[in-house]
Amino acid sequence: MTTSALISELRTRSRALGFDAFGIAPADARPDLAGRLAIALERDWHGDMEWLAESPDRRAAPRALWSAARSVIMLGMNYGPDEDPLPLLARTDRANLSVYARNRDYHEVIKGRLKELAGLLRRRTGAEVKVFVDTAPLMEKPLAEAAGLGWQGKHTVLVSRELGSWLFLGAILTSAELPADGPHPQSCGTCTRCLDICPTAAFPAPFQLDARRCLSYLNIEHKGPIPHEFRAAMGNRVYGCDDCLAVCPWNKFASATREARLQAREDLRAPALADLLALDEAAFRALFVGSPVKRIGHARFLRNVLIAAGNSGDLDLVDAVEARLIDLSPLVRGAAVWALRRLDPNRSEALRLAFMPAERDMSVQAEWNAVVQPARAN
Ligand code: SF4
Repeated sequence: MTTSALISELRTRSRALGFDAFGIAPADARPDLAGRLAIALERDWHGDMEWLAESPDRRAAPRALWSAARSVIMLGMNYGPDEDPLPLLARTDRANLSVYARNRDYHEVIKGRLKELAGLLRRRTGAEVKVFVDTAPLMEKPLAEAAGLGWQGKHTVLVSRELGSWLFLGAILTSAELPADGPHPQSCGTCTRCLDICPTAAFPAPFQLDARRCLSYLNIEHKGPIPHEFRAAMGNRVYGCDDCLAVCPWNKFASATREARLQAREDLRAPALADLLALDEAAFRALFVGSPVKRIGHARFLRNVLIAAGNSGDLDLVDAVEARLIDLSPLVRGAAVWALRRLDPNRSEALRLAFMPAERDMSVQAEWNAVVQPARAN
């Protein structure tokens, strides 16, 4: 079999498996990554994602990760939503889940298909293969740029001419030497919509992200209390944030070419905060079975829902928030204190006198003592 026939077969098979983008780069296509990652780590932009700092050499270079690697096949799957996610931000009694989290976990969706494609490559060439979906120490976005799938936009997310900013990425590293497609040129032009819309000013400069300020990091990866300075800005975002992706003008091409890959579950499009506050551990697991949301666990999820409740200005939520003041998790109790103080300052002052003497957790005590602006004052 000739190389071009092999590539043609792999491309065709990738489309049949549901991938929308396919490209090949040499495994050592991005020697600049080590320097870029070192700068980000030096500035602490990774927050408490310690796994980023643990093996920077391996993350920055696929061949440091696996010395036999010669080529990387990058694949993209479109997950463009069937409606604009931004209007939901104004419905403050509802929870806003990131578009990619409104159905099955995409790691699961993509991994099996990547393995199938990698298996085809192995059978045809005898080469070794390894597959990666966002969970391994591999910098997929710059590799996707090197493989011609698109370019890293000013928001650092991969942008594709055909699919906009809504692209799941997966990678197949292989010991086979495959012909490279060549990098995609930077095509953001003068547009700064993604930088301008960010509610937390998470971009120190175009193409640079300080994850410690990014809501997607704070409400998913960050394990402790949400820092006070970002709570009001979180609004009703209880899992992730889509703002910088949703405003990308290249998305219009995604809607023109797109087939629904990952349709939102109806019950996760705009769930009521009142319903989410009432979830116990078992109900949380049942609601989010197969969803990426399950991975952050019940306590961290409730922390986020309580912040959204505090931002809602909805006095109908006060009882449900108050019920969380006796939660076993200090993370949840602390968020409940903040939400209550924001929603109903008078009632929270009476409750402070009742609850503070028995509170042993210093972080929750600090929440009771903090100065909180009422939600309606925003
Ligand atoms: Fe800012 Fe949201 Fe984009 Fe994070 S995901 S950089 S918070 S707009």
